[in-house]
Amino acid sequence: MMRKKDPLKQYHQRRDFTVSPEPKGHKPKKAVRKKPIFVIQKHAATRLHYDFRIEVEGVLKSWALPKGPSTNPRDKRLAIPTDDHPIEYAQFEGVIPEGHYGAGTVMVWDIGTYHNIKKRNGNIVPMKQCIKDGTIEVFLEGEKLFGAYALILTGKSGDERWLFIKMRDKYADARRNPVSSQPKSVLTGRTIKQIERAGVEVSKKGKQ
Ligand code: MN
Repeated sequence: MMRKKDPLKQYHQRRDFTVSPEPKGHKPKKAVRKKPIFVIQKHAATRLHYDFRIEVEGVLKSWALPKGPSTNPRDKRLAIPTDDHPIEYAQFEGVIPEGHYGAGTVMVWDIGTYHNIKKRNGNIVPMKQCIKDGTIEVFLEGEKLFGAYALILTGKSGDERWLFIKMRDKYADARRNPVSSQPKSVLTGRTIKQIERAGVEVSKKGKQ
């Protein structure tokens, strides 16, 4: 029998959990929740970016958005696929130590639930299939992002590039720019600087 690939293998291989405060996570649970979650984490790493993650079959499918999301349907924001993350990661805020994968500060910039709205012949297309097809359509229910968003695969295999686009609905707003006007954590109200300072305190204590 073929052994099923562990979707979190890369995630675990890249990290030393005795040093990084990031969650190890549990075995992915396959159960499809009625209201799966999404999260956008602001990640002040070597280069600031926003990690968009959606719960699919027990893990967080992830993309890195160099410029973050836009609420303007005319904007096509680059989204680079990254490793699947454990569900527990959605609540993670803290500092990944220097010299480790993703070193820098992580903030929960937006969090909420979503539902899959991609239909074919009147039926919802399963998320796994949407990812394979390169056409994801989700309705996000976050604090900063609300409404329908699409992720569209462009570029050739080996150099996978997606575009993150606000779909046209009554929640689209070309004048809003939440990346700059709502920069703080939705979980703790903290800025990147405040999370960074608290994180450094924690690791100092750990060393004593
Ligand atoms: Mn990241």
